[in-house]
Order: sequence, then structure tokens, then C-alpha cells
Amino acid sequence: MTLHRKTAADARPSVGRDCDAWCSRCNMALEHTIIAMVGLEIVRVKCNTCNSEHKYKSAREAALGAERTPTTKAKSKAATAASAPRPRSAVSAPPPSNASRLLWTRSMGDRDRAKALAYTPALVASPGSLIDHKQFGYGIVDAVIDGKSRVLFEDGYKVLVTGR
Ligand SMILES: [Zn+2]
Repeated sequence: MTLHRKTAADARPSVGRDCDAWCSRCNMALEHTIIAMVGLEIVRVKCNTCNSEHKYKSAREAALGAERTPTTKAKSKAATAASAPRPRSAVSAPPPSNASRLLWTRSMGDRDRAKALAYTPALVASPGSLIDHKQFGYGIVDAVIDGKSRVLFEDGYKVLVTGR
């Protein structure tokens, strides 16, 4: 395998040769002609574009210098307005009727409706009794106070006379 290698003489800069350098007048890296060297160092060049002679400054050196120039442009922090978390929409309590209906449904559970006590004012109820009311339907006695029973029906609580 033949390696086409550049000879040292080819790579080595020498007076009269062209080289890339930074031209401060053109303010850009351009091809320059080497006009003076000290050893292997290029010291003086002539810009092929503006024909000005000046000290050699490599394009890379100039680029690095440019990078070093402090950039005062501090990125203005885009005021990332931390979008305030949306207030939770208050969980609207279900209307009482729905709440009591749900409670009634749960309370009824697997109660045997066939065993419901037919309601009459004479009915002696106790908390937990399942009653069957002609008008209100099935209900579960919630509390018994002074001859009255609070009964949970599908439509809500009713107070019925009991134990008369
Ligand atoms: Zn120039």
C-alpha cells in the first residue's frame, strides 16, 4: 500500500509561499504570502487580498483571541413564569339527593327486600330495620327517637311516626 505522504519540504512554510493568516485590515482569515521567517516561524506576511504587509498572526490564533473576548451578553433568563399550578377545581359535592341515594344504595346492599317490614304508624322499628313504605319505597331505619323514626329512603331521609 502506497502512502502518498507529503514531504516535509511541501508542508514546511517558506518565504514566497502562501499561507493562511489573519489579516487585521481585512478582519478575516485570508491567504497571505510569507515574506519573512525566523527559523520555522512565519513572522511577516503580505495579504493577498489587500496587499498589506503585517506581522503574521495565524487564523487560529485570531479565532481563539476572538473567543476569549468576554461576552457580556448574559443570557437574559427568560422569565420562565412558573405557571402557577391551576387551583384544583373544588370537587363539587354531589347534590344531597344523590348523596343520600348513594348511601341508600349502599345501605340496601344485599338486604332481603322480601323481609322488609310493611310500614304502619304502629310499626315498632329499630335502627337497621328494613321497612317498606307505600309512598317512599324501601327504607332503612337510621334512628328511633321519641316515637319517630328517621328512615333513609332512596329519595333521602324521612321521619316517620312509628310505635304507635
Ligand atoms: Zn488583508
